[in-house]
Amino acid sequence: MSMRLRPHHGMCFQFYEGKGYSAEFTDHMGGVIRALSERPKTPVRLTLSADAVCEHCPNNLGEVCQSAEKVMRYDAAVLSACGLRDGDELAYADFAARVKERILDAGMRRGICGDCEWDAICAKHRREP
Ligand code: SF4
Repeated sequence: MSMRLRPHHGMCFQFYEGKGYSAEFTDHMGGVIRALSERPKTPVRLTLSADAVCEHCPNNLGEVCQSAEKVMRYDAAVLSACGLRDGDELAYADFAARVKERILDAGMRRGICGDCEWDAICAKHRREP
């Protein structure tokens, strides 16, 4: 069975350092990242609604995120940069590799989610101009 994943979480996962919206959220997000790194062939289904990470987020208002406008914009930009569409399913490793090559290594991250409240964490990993 595939794991539902918001496209922009493919960026968040790569620089995650255990900070988040609540202790329950960070425990859960850390667990999702560990599970995917231990089993990188896990199929992920890309979705523009609440996913496996949102399940334990205090900003999750059911199927809608409290920051819906922002996260939808991030999700759409990640899909476009990676040549993927809502509902596509692929191995997590393949998705993570696309995000790394086409966004992070290409210096596009800040243009996509530079207004995120966690930007300073990802900006430390300078691959961007
Ligand atoms: S509910 Fe919103 S803020 Fe929380 S993890 Fe999901 S997309 Fe991120």
